Amino acid sequence: MSDTKSTDKLARRGLLFILSSPSGAGKTTLSRKLLRKDEDIQLSVSATTRPPRPGEVDGKDYYFVSDAEFDRMIEEDDFYEWAHVFDHRYGTPKGAIREGLKRGQDYLFDIDWQGTQQLKQKDDQDVVTVFVLPPSLTELRRRLESRGQDTAEVIDGRMQRARDEISHWAEYDYVVVNDDMDACFAQVCEILHAERMRRKRQTGLIPFVRELMV
Ligand code: 5GP
Repeated sequence: MSDTKSTDKLARRGLLFILSSPSGAGKTTLSRKLLRKDEDIQLSVSATTRPPRPGEVDGKDYYFVSDAEFDRMIEEDDFYEWAHVFDHRYGTPKGAIREGLKRGQDYLFDIDWQGTQQLKQKDDQDVVTVFVLPPSLTELRRRLESRGQDTAEVIDGRMQRARDEISHWAEYDYVVVNDDMDACFAQVCEILHAERMRRKRQTGLIPFVRELMV
């Protein structure tokens, strides 16, 4: 049995598991590993107005929508939260999430601090927030440079944004430092595992416990 699987003895509400970090701190790798390892959590797919990057699939990585479509979604109150990030807009569609939570489905969110604050305001009970820190700013810059994708100017911009993002770390429930990916991943799994066991999430009682309560 995987060590992050929930127990089948207790019925529980799902949770909204938020991973935030500056870009380059390893959050995307952590998310992918978690989704591969743990069948009880699924990615909440965001809508965005940014164009797809090579290899990204509509409906899997994001719902890629036009500005007009995004405006319509805001008007129709389709979002749990949305925010401007870099030059584009990103939002979490409510869609199936509310129903899924009732069935015990967990959702993983890869969203920034703005989205995290909004989600917490809307649903503090179900939200668990984890901030992933890089070991240092020097190491973060080295990781961004080693991707070889961006100009120095773009990297300067990302570093500035990283400082802004990191300044919100104290608003999170948990913090992990991604020095060693495997160790960091193990910590993220432990957090998820423990949060699933919180008594407040248990919606049904095991029969013998129920009998003791009457
Ligand atoms: P990227 O364009 O690199 O995929 O994502 C850029 C940033 O947007 C990341 O920091 C990511 O966490 C954030 N982001 C992605 N989806 C959402 C969302 O639905 N809401 C918010 N607030 N931020 C998001």
